[in-house]
Amino acid sequence: MTVPFALPLALEVTGRRCVVVGGGPVAEGKVRALLDAGAAVVVVAEDATAGLAELARRGEVELIERSYRRGDLVGARLVFAAGDRSINADVFAEAEAEGVLCNAHQDSAHCHFASPTVTRRGDLVVAVSTGGRAPTLAGYVRDALAAGLPDEFGALIDLVAEIRQEGIAPGDTAERGRLWRRALDFDVLGLLASGQWEAARRLLRGVLASPAGDRAEGQEPDEIPRGRAPALSASAGGPFPGDPGAGPQGRVWIVGAGPGDPDLITIRGRAALEAADVVVHDRLVHPALLAGRVVVDVGKEPGRHPVSQDGINALLVSLARQGKRVVRLKGGDPFVFGRGSEEAEALAEAGIGFEIVPAPTSALAALAYAGIPATDRRCGASIAVVTGQRGDGQTVDWDRVANATDTLVVLMGMARLGDIVDRLVAGGRSPDTPAAVVSRGTLPDQRVLGATLARLPEVVADAGLPGPGLLVVGEVVRLSERIAWFGADQGREAGEVGRR
Ligand code: SAH
Repeated sequence: MTVPFALPLALEVTGRRCVVVGGGPVAEGKVRALLDAGAAVVVVAEDATAGLAELARRGEVELIERSYRRGDLVGARLVFAAGDRSINADVFAEAEAEGVLCNAHQDSAHCHFASPTVTRRGDLVVAVSTGGRAPTLAGYVRDALAAGLPDEFGALIDLVAEIRQEGIAPGDTAERGRLWRRALDFDVLGLLASGQWEAARRLLRGVLASPAGDRAEGQEPDEIPRGRAPALSASAGGPFPGDPGAGPQGRVWIVGAGPGDPDLITIRGRAALEAADVVVHDRLVHPALLAGRVVVDVGKEPGRHPVSQDGINALLVSLARQGKRVVRLKGGDPFVFGRGSEEAEALAEAGIGFEIVPAPTSALAALAYAGIPATDRRCGASIAVVTGQRGDGQTVDWDRVANATDTLVVLMGMARLGDIVDRLVAGGRSPDTPAAVVSRGTLPDQRVLGATLARLPEVVADAGLPGPGLLVVGEVVRLSERIAWFGADQGREAGEVGRR
């Protein structure tokens, strides 16, 4: 090689005239590489391979069927001399004169640049060059590198590019670089490999946006504050007899965040949060519980693709396998309409230790904050909690539920309140039964609207209550007139409930 250190470049040639002199297999290889790069390719050759002839026939290259002449390089960006060696000197001389970059095949005296051997994954290009001195060795190194580059690198680059556009990562360039490295240390590729694009996207976003830079690098498990929640230590037993606990593999705590007010999480839940390397959370979780932590939001975001349940499961498994202490934080109690059981099953199946940390469910806690006892000796001996959402494989037998219990609580029912009330009445519940909606229960802006069952949908629609909210039906609702205690100045518009 004529120069000791060549300057590596990834040259942009889209739409540029690039000349290949010669029509053999080597020339064809150069032509195809140029076409991949979007170049406007001109081939000068007396004889062309069948492949080149076909490309010319299809109009993808311009084929000039004669030997090279001075003048062929006018207006070109670069030239490959890949034919008869005896003309390399002439080609090189014209290239020099015209300011065109020249590469003569295996003739480094007539080269401005070497042509590296390449392996690609999408937009990732790994180019290996020995400056033309040991092409076989270059190929050997390329193959060794290629073996370590999963196909998903292409997808990863697309994802990284997309997230860079969002401009999430804060701080100066060095800080951003550090955040990106940390984010890419997570097994994003593994998620992409299993098709969990959205989970991978949220993971990258979450880690990039998190201020607690040091946490993800992880304290050792025995740095978990002892005495606060001993069962959190990695050496404590797992959920199954004989399970040795987290060990080098991570562990997942499926934690209930409580109904809204962040003070209603349990002591154990809080300890788990404090010890967590990463928190994977839903929409309804109070921001105060997330501040300063590495968080991945897998909640449904308006206008965005939701993360599938499979994606969430894969994310939890992937994070645990990387040795992270993972808190899966869910609104209310994780086993009440929270799909916590599906996640626990996925973890069990993957052989990952986990714990369930229950919490007050909104179904009971929001009632308590509305002054509505779930049961009462005088008028509420039984309670049912049902979902108001259709689909998801869950169906409620409204005829059976309508009169089955004294108190009935419907979660996820606000969007079709009128329909649910119709079904209850059709199932035999009296339209005069006291009923209420508790909106944003336990939060400072909690509101409670009461009416008879039949009138409630209209009352609620007029008020335009924000979510989340639940429906409660039964005689116990009347008691709130005397025992409503929280935010006493709020939400009495309808008058039937909580009037003092
Ligand atoms: N696992 C949760 C329930 C998840 S389903 C729990 O145990 O509470 C989500 C539904 O819960 C919402 O549609 C709403 O009906 C109810 N919900 C959650 N938080 C609420 C709150 N603060 N006030 C009233 N209802 C709430």
